[in-house]
Amino acid sequence: MYDVVVIGAGPVGSQVACRLAGMGYSVAVLERNTRLGEQVCCSGIVGRECANSFSINGGVVLRAANSARLFSPSGRMIRLRRDEPQAFIVDRAALNMELARRAQEKGADYVLSCLCRDVVVRDDKVRVETVSQGKSLHFEARAAVVATGFAPGLTEKLGLGRSGDFVTGAQAEVSACALDEIEVYFGSEIAPGFFGWLVPTQPERALVGLLSRHSPGLYLRKLMSSLEAEGKIVSDGANITYGAIPLKPLPRTYTDRVLVAGDAAGMVKPTTGGGVYYGLMSANLAADTLGKALETDKLSADDLSGYERKWKSELGRELQVGFWGRKLYERLRDRQVDKAFDIILSDGVLDALLGSPDVSFDWHGEAVLKLVGHHAVSRVLRVVRAPLRLSRIGSN
Ligand SMILES: Cc1cc2nc3c(=O)[nH]c(=O)nc-3n(C[C@H](O)[C@H](O)[C@H](O)COP(=O)(O)OP(=O)(O)OC[C@H]3O[C@@H](n4cnc5c(N)ncnc54)[C@H](O)[C@@H]3O)c2cc1C
Repeated sequence: MYDVVVIGAGPVGSQVACRLAGMGYSVAVLERNTRLGEQVCCSGIVGRECANSFSINGGVVLRAANSARLFSPSGRMIRLRRDEPQAFIVDRAALNMELARRAQEKGADYVLSCLCRDVVVRDDKVRVETVSQGKSLHFEARAAVVATGFAPGLTEKLGLGRSGDFVTGAQAEVSACALDEIEVYFGSEIAPGFFGWLVPTQPERALVGLLSRHSPGLYLRKLMSSLEAEGKIVSDGANITYGAIPLKPLPRTYTDRVLVAGDAAGMVKPTTGGGVYYGLMSANLAADTLGKALETDKLSADDLSGYERKWKSELGRELQVGFWGRKLYERLRDRQVDKAFDIILSDGVLDALLGSPDVSFDWHGEAVLKLVGHHAVSRVLRVVRAPLRLSRIGSN
């Protein structure tokens, strides 16, 4: 019997496994794919704070980014630039493999081609039911961590519910001609309520993608055609991949002997859909809570509830403000977005935002509140009473 079975060998599962194995616990990581880093759908942009906190460097980093160009629906352009790199574009498959390597080095076992079907919680253990190469196989452990990414099946079976909102991302790898900055595109014709992106990765290569509540593939093909017409990319035969992204946390992220972390728990920036950093943060909080509980063999839901209190105190406000900002943005018409761009460009707002130390790639809540709190921007966005209510959130 293992101390902990972790379900899912994405960045979050491997981070949980690494930390628990480092505390001396026996850990098995179960992954449905046949290889680590397989079937990854992600642009791989992580902020500087994330890269520093989790030592994401060296071979997995494709390039650093200290600027980005944002395009409004009618083509107005804002250039965000700071002197220091604000983010890093990483090879996501390589990141998955690197984090798994670190966990294996600490002693975690990896079982590939192993699809987890159910987690049965008993008084003294969990029994994880899987199918591996056509055969039923089960694993027993004192506790389990669900790190399956956005896959509501298991969390629903465990009585933890599902994330209240999600969006689908679509992405393709293309050839890019002389692209040296991240580009972001807004507008209802491009990605209604969300945005599209073009991210340089390796020389002459880029990822083009977008988020949309409906027809993401259709919108992406349209975006690729227009970027191709502008001469920015060549998308011949590009293969589109899809991934669902939760926009709200699970109603509950713990039960007897089980914790849920990362995308599976909805630990994602609702503004952009970026989930690597908050996922890794939740992985550490889950591992620390579980590590203590294993030590005293107190693994009831009550004993594990501290995990949810901790992530709420670190991320709760950010997730709520971000979700509120996201819903506000989704209601805007293209002309309001254009107007907001005009104000940001003309009224010193951009400099104020860039100059503010509490506005960063990894934390968007303050930027959202600063923007809607700006009188001219809020007039355009028609924001009513938001910040007062939001100022109390995150205190639960
Ligand atoms: C198009 C797109 C672009 C994105 N770009 C960014 C970005 O630039 N920056 C960023 O921070 N985030 C980005 N994200 C989000 C990011 O990919 C996720 O937040 C991140 O991968 C979450 O990590 P995770 O370990 O929780 O889940 P995942 O990375 O999804 O890993 C879960 C693992 O569990 C395995 N698994 C699932 N179910 C089972 C099962 N039943 N049994 C066994 N194994 C199972 C899966 O095969 C997978 O390997 C993007 C997402 C999309 C869709």
